[in-house]
Amino acid sequence: MKFAIQSRNDELSNRLMDEAKKYLTDFGLVFDEAEPEIVLSIGGDGTMLHAYHKYQHRLQETAFVGIHTGHLGFYADWKPEEIEKLVIAISRKKFQVIEYPLLEVTVNYQDSNESVTYLAMNESTVKSPEVTLVMDVELNGGHFERFRGDGLCMSTPSGSTAYNKALGGAILHPSLASMQLTEMASINNRVFRTVGAPLVLPAHHKCVLTPVKGPDFMVTIDHLQLFLKDVKSIEYQVSEKRVRFARFRPFPFWSRVHDSFIDSDV
Ligand code: NAD
Repeated sequence: MKFAIQSRNDELSNRLMDEAKKYLTDFGLVFDEAEPEIVLSIGGDGTMLHAYHKYQHRLQETAFVGIHTGHLGFYADWKPEEIEKLVIAISRKKFQVIEYPLLEVTVNYQDSNESVTYLAMNESTVKSPEVTLVMDVELNGGHFERFRGDGLCMSTPSGSTAYNKALGGAILHPSLASMQLTEMASINNRVFRTVGAPLVLPAHHKCVLTPVKGPDFMVTIDHLQLFLKDVKSIEYQVSEKRVRFARFRPFPFWSRVHDSFIDSDV
């Protein structure tokens, strides 16, 4: 089996990367950065986001597993001291694969017929850092609202514990193929109205954001920031593609929610 390792690049993560690489090679696995079947992410959730974006072009062939060298992560749930146990489990080459839904983001440009599609694992946000963002929100072809405020966030279920949660969104189990729209500081008064609550949309539904005032704003795709000009619209839908995680032991989603937000000894 071919493997690659993504490190956060701090001292502990790099040391664990060297150890894991040596152990896995000793067990007969082949280090292959270009076409890995399994990718070990060593660091935090941010490191896993980087690993996912690096191997996004081969999601069908690659599974991910995360080790956290800081606090427990949602995508990084193995402890550094468990590295030997994990390496032995990987070398047995048998693991369960858990698949999580992804968010498809299509940016359509004004003058050309050009569109660019991205796949987010956590979320995509639309923000206007200096002036009020004004966006028409369309759901399945029908006008829903005219949003005015700091921005909008469309999250995946596995990203619902990240930025989405900070915006008052619900935590969704990743078995629900869905996407969730939350508001950032919407303007609500007698003149301007937004729904003022997070919306959870199922697969096959589409949300289109059309800029009303000033077509320049920032779009994020996970940790990536895009400063876009001349945007006609941004389309969101649940992708048909999924990200695959290698599971070697049960660590249910709700246990990770508990251990991350309520209390934990890990
Ligand atoms: P980072 O690695 O510093 O991540 C920021 C924090 O988000 C970390 O504590 C990380 O553990 C946590 N996080 C990331 N994905 C998570 C998930 N799925 N569930 C629970 N926690 C998660 O910074 P980065 O590398 O730039 O990561 C980008 C992510 O940071 C974005 O995808 C976004 O979700 C998150 N973020 C959160 C806020 C906020 O909560 N106000 C603001 C901006 C970005």
